[in-house]
Amino acid sequence: MDTPKYLWWNGERRPWNECVVHVSEIAWSTVGAVFEGIRAYWNPEDEQLYVFRLDEHLARLLRSQKLVRLPIHYDLPTLKQAVLDLLAANDVREDTYIFPLAYTGNTRVQRYDRAGFDSQLYITTKPMASHLGTGMTQSAKISSWRRISEDVMPPRAKNISNYRNGQLARMEAGADGYDTAILLNRNGNVSEGPGACLMFVRDGVLVTPDLTAGILESITRDALLQMARNLGMPVQERTVDRTELYLADEVFLCGTAAEISPVTSIDHYEIGDGKIGPVTHRLDQLFEEVLRGRETTYARWRTPVDAPVAIEA
Ligand code: PMP
Repeated sequence: MDTPKYLWWNGERRPWNECVVHVSEIAWSTVGAVFEGIRAYWNPEDEQLYVFRLDEHLARLLRSQKLVRLPIHYDLPTLKQAVLDLLAANDVREDTYIFPLAYTGNTRVQRYDRAGFDSQLYITTKPMASHLGTGMTQSAKISSWRRISEDVMPPRAKNISNYRNGQLARMEAGADGYDTAILLNRNGNVSEGPGACLMFVRDGVLVTPDLTAGILESITRDALLQMARNLGMPVQERTVDRTELYLADEVFLCGTAAEISPVTSIDHYEIGDGKIGPVTHRLDQLFEEVLRGRETTYARWRTPVDAPVAIEA
């Protein structure tokens, strides 16, 4: 596998091959981890890589750390500089996923000896092509797994242990012949997809479950809501019933990795006319312009990675 030259680990950029941990660290370190998923998009005309909403993602990482009581050693400007330095040092010139992970280190001390635990952090990057504008569509199943709820795990944070929930739902959907899953929350209302939020359009209104529906505080969801409002579209954040999805004109999942992923059938109900709808199409087009730096209204959401600086060996 191709690896980047460097990753960022515990305060410094270091050569990839030197960054190893002892096997005994793995289990409790990962159970005790929180992370971020951030995307950067390459613009060939500008010869520039644009990181999408970097500050917001790093702020959420710090919120996730706070929530799971992982000590914070690096503030937002330090992490931001680390990400930009890493992308420059690795000479990244393609669509890329950026993955900062904060985890419980030094877990070989007594299990409950919190004072002996340490918080550690690494950031790495890998190529991830965009599927915006490709016309990709998905079928979905309402999962028999319910979305984790506030009284069990913190859905609004990117707590890595949460992800078993979405993974189980996706595996079940796959085994049953669907592309993806939609999870209901413990009240039986619509929550989100595995690793993505959900929006639908009915009678010209864009609707999405509100932030207390057991969803992640999604940065893409927030961006699309702002974009839709600015296009003059009526928008509702509210409790959503399962049957509203079956009767919707358009449904899509959204998130950093999901971008905008149209869903054209749910539990074998055709959504609208079974094709990508006009609102989804409009948002998909505009979102790509925003991400790739081909418009100016949302320039504040993009951090350009400056031309690679000379990196000492
Ligand atoms: N829900 C979950 C569980 C996720 O993992 C993600 C992806 N981070 C999302 C929603 C979408 O969030 P965002 O737009 O911030 O990527």
